[in-house]
Amino acid sequence: MTWNVRDFCPEILPKETVYSWVARWLEAIPVPNIDEAATVLIGSSSKQWDASLPSFLPELCAFSGMTIESLINQHTLIPYYRHFCRPETFKNILIDISVGDTSSSYSKLSLVAGRVIDSPTLNYCPECAKKDIQEMGIAYWHIEHQLPGVSVCNHHSLHLHRVKRQRGVLVKPPQFECGITSHKANHVAHKLAIMSSVLLSEPIGFVHGEPMAQLYVARLQEIGMATGRHHIKQRLLSRALRAYWQPISKEPLVKQIFSLGNGTAFPQTLFYHSDNSFHPLKHLLMIGFLFDSVGTCLNYSRPQLTTEKESDNQQTQSSLRKEKKALAALEGGSSLRAASRVSGLSVIKVKQLALANKYYVDRRESKLFACERLKIVQALAEGKSTQTIAKAMTCSVGAVEQLLTQHPELKLKREKLRYRRKKAFARAHLIMAIKSLENNRLTRNELKALVGGTYAWLYKHDKEWLYARLPTRRAYCYWPRKTFC
Ligand SMILES: [Zn+2]
Repeated sequence: MTWNVRDFCPEILPKETVYSWVARWLEAIPVPNIDEAATVLIGSSSKQWDASLPSFLPELCAFSGMTIESLINQHTLIPYYRHFCRPETFKNILIDISVGDTSSSYSKLSLVAGRVIDSPTLNYCPECAKKDIQEMGIAYWHIEHQLPGVSVCNHHSLHLHRVKRQRGVLVKPPQFECGITSHKANHVAHKLAIMSSVLLSEPIGFVHGEPMAQLYVARLQEIGMATGRHHIKQRLLSRALRAYWQPISKEPLVKQIFSLGNGTAFPQTLFYHSDNSFHPLKHLLMIGFLFDSVGTCLNYSRPQLTTEKESDNQQTQSSLRKEKKALAALEGGSSLRAASRVSGLSVIKVKQLALANKYYVDRRESKLFACERLKIVQALAEGKSTQTIAKAMTCSVGAVEQLLTQHPELKLKREKLRYRRKKAFARAHLIMAIKSLENNRLTRNELKALVGGTYAWLYKHDKEWLYARLPTRRAYCYWPRKTFC
């Protein structure tokens, strides 16, 4: 081999992705196929070229003379992931990248656990591609167009065109002005594109963990979605958040986020597990809704008027900490009682938390607590239906019925109660019917036809009372016959 691979290194273009640059480089290397070119360049043909966290940057730096910092900061999505994760986590990821082993980096950023994965497509803007061809001679993949959840160009506000990623094949955007046009995107999609782009280039990280959750809570309180004691109205927030991002709800990553945990995990986890690392898109969806822009959020300071007394703040923080402890215990498989003991919250409160966060709660009767059993027995004694009780106590109808079988005296009492209520209802119904028809002088048969069910029930169960109130039986007149004129 008389040539050197660095001789074929193309100049990396402004905001070009590493994938796009490598594709051009591999094509230029004078070997029969791409696999051989890849082996020459980085010693392997099995690397994932379009990965968000590439594992081949050290080799590229060695041949191109570029620094790994400039490659990372200007040509990869890695700076986007710097935000909303622990500083030490991001530091470890940078170390992984610098040694070419990013296999565990995805889990460190919770990209695997959160199941928010890479987009299945590579995207380009027709207007940007046209400009690139005119100015650079080629169209290439722009880093800003590949940002997670972004479906429009942040410069032109046009829908991005998508090309399916193919492993082992170097995909390019069209290299000619093909006349493809695109539609103007809605403002919400454009906003997310701008926010994501700002996040990519924003060197100052957001506060991480609980302080970020508190920032959200303060803003939620300001717009009436959190109480004076900073309790978040989760259902209201969830509905409002979905409605706000509805125009891009079909965007695969946005859809994934809103459907996590059967639609109950987001945005609750941002508060209850605030110390975890989250995909930046989750935070961007919150920030866009609450603050309208990344800049406003960064400059937001908690308004003095809406903050409660210091003691209230401490109480809120303490309450949040307790809830976190309880959820952590439940996640570790602890029972409601154990989680209650660890966190200092009541068992009922822990149960509410568990149900709200979709943790499995064994609702069999045997697991109902004494206080709940007592409430159910009282409700049964009052004659309430088992369905109504089950709904009120958030347990199964079967559990209530099982409890009923343990109290045969209740069964008898409930039957008597039901009978009395039915009798009172039937009597009232009949009296009302008679009163309304008093002037019409209806016969017994006509009344029977009018309130058939009630009449039948009273005839069977309360005959004496019924006969005492029926209209007087008319004497049947056989002669002279009735005539109609
Ligand atoms: Zn564009």
